[in-house]
Amino acid sequence: MSGMQAPAGDSPGGPSGQPNAPAARRTAQKEAIRAELSTLDEFVSARDLHRRLEDAEVSVGVATVYRQLNRLAEQGEVDVISNPEGERLYRACASSDHHHHLVCRYCGKAVEIEPPAEQWLKDISERHGFSSISHTIEVFGVCGDCSAHQDRAAGS
Ligand SMILES: [Zn+2]
Ligand SMILES: [Zn+2]
Ligand SMILES: [Zn+2]
Repeated sequence: MSGMQAPAGDSPGGPSGQPNAPAARRTAQKEAIRAELSTLDEFVSARDLHRRLEDAEVSVGVATVYRQLNRLAEQGEVDVISNPEGERLYRACASSDHHHHLVCRYCGKAVEIEPPAEQWLKDISERHGFSSISHTIEVFGVCGDCSAHQDRAAGS
């Protein structure tokens, strides 16, 4: 028979999320987000991650994904960078020490790099009378896979 309907009221796709959702559920969502991130090699946006979670049939709102990602970033569990378009991208990095990234602007694949200029930045900042120095340096380019793809697409 054709009249079967899935119960619709189960997951409120409400716009603002639920501040009083049970803690256990929030923890489960956070774990799902963390687990999904840890399988990825590339930087992803909150929207990308939300799409992947939906594919994995994890029911979580995009606002929750944003919130949990930012919380994980604050706790230093994930790295966050802004791509040249100003979109925030997230990645669970192998290293929690200070480091930098070489990022493919097409697929988001990232390589962790250690630039040689840390001491120079420190010295020059101090010479200008600045203290409590911090910096972010991300290098964007096109990875080998993507440029091979482009060459092929350009037709030879
Ligand atoms: Zn990293
Ligand atoms: Zn790439
Ligand atoms: Zn640095």
